[in-house]
Amino acid sequence: MSSATMPPSLSSSGRLILLNPGPVNVHEDVRAAMASPDQCHREPEAAALMDRVRAKATAVCGGADTDTSVLLAGSGTAALEAALSSVVPQDGRILILDNGHYGERMFRIVSLHGVPYQRLEFGWTRPMDPAEVDRALELDPGITHVGMVHHETSTGMLNPLREIGAVVAARGRSLIVDAISSLGSEQLDMRADHIDWCVGTANKCLEGLPGVSFVCASHENLERLSSVPPRTFYLDLHGHYMSQDRKHAPMFTPAVQVMTAFEVALDLAIDEGVPARGARYAAHAEAIRAAFTEREARFLLPPEHRANSVTTVAVPPHLTYDQLHDGLKAEGYVVYATQDQLAGWFRVANMGQLGAADVAEFFPAYDRVVAKYADQAR
Ligand SMILES: *Cc1c(COP(=O)(O)O)cnc(C)c1O
Repeated sequence: MSSATMPPSLSSSGRLILLNPGPVNVHEDVRAAMASPDQCHREPEAAALMDRVRAKATAVCGGADTDTSVLLAGSGTAALEAALSSVVPQDGRILILDNGHYGERMFRIVSLHGVPYQRLEFGWTRPMDPAEVDRALELDPGITHVGMVHHETSTGMLNPLREIGAVVAARGRSLIVDAISSLGSEQLDMRADHIDWCVGTANKCLEGLPGVSFVCASHENLERLSSVPPRTFYLDLHGHYMSQDRKHAPMFTPAVQVMTAFEVALDLAIDEGVPARGARYAAHAEAIRAAFTEREARFLLPPEHRANSVTTVAVPPHLTYDQLHDGLKAEGYVVYATQDQLAGWFRVANMGQLGAADVAEFFPAYDRVVAKYADQAR
């Protein structure tokens, strides 16, 4: 067998431990739900499933009765592109707040769809500044919407959503939030954070499997999209809303099995509670950061800007990222590269069903890999 077809090595827990920022190691019940009986997506039981998943997705966003969620078949980018291409009218303009790879992705999506936009760049690793956002909105009354990433997964930075939400609401503009890698682990609330459009996905901190994503918004906002002509056929958010809400039927074939698994994941998230899950993630992140500190690793971000689920550290001297990744994979752990301009750094995420032992046992493996290359360099 070539190395590409060989089954991966397993950690001492008997699993390949995913320390990439999604997809994540899932609960056994979530995986088991994927093997549910075959079903037709246009039967009443599939409609009931879709309705329940929509309601539970809304609940994890802190939505009220006046809010709902629209489900999309696809990874987080599908829901993000549906929102960004569907909500800004041609005579409006969106201000994209950008401080990393996913901020850039927002700007690339709107520019591709011909959505009028403006970009406010803070620079990678620089936190978003609510005062700068306020100034931009004050100076330009033509801006109707603001788009931001809550957890900028490319660096691990948690952006000040609540402060920016307050500024955007005070200026009477509409806020679109990419909460794809924060929902489930970071504090977020449709009302308290003044979010008009919240984008989430199944396979990150909500601990489902990839293939379903969603946009949570008020019925009122979704109804009003009837006045914005769709820019895409498949990702027309208003079309999906009308089909799911009026007909209780999906517009196109959904990922039914992934949705079945997502419902189980949402039940687990709601039972655990977002604050408790956030605390579980924070404890793992703290253990990871303490262990890296002991090893005198360099961190990309200061502690006050770090989210609960991603730690970005420098690749140690004497080895490349690929050597580190491949060595760790052979020990049963998957770490993650950085994107674009962050060469020399790598990411260790702690999303998903991880135990304290998984985190603790990662570091002896890490030390073995680093020592192997340090010996060779000697
Ligand atoms: C993962 C992620 C996305 C979506 O990426 P997909 O490849 O579609 O899963 C978007 N935004 C953020 C902040 C993310 O972390």
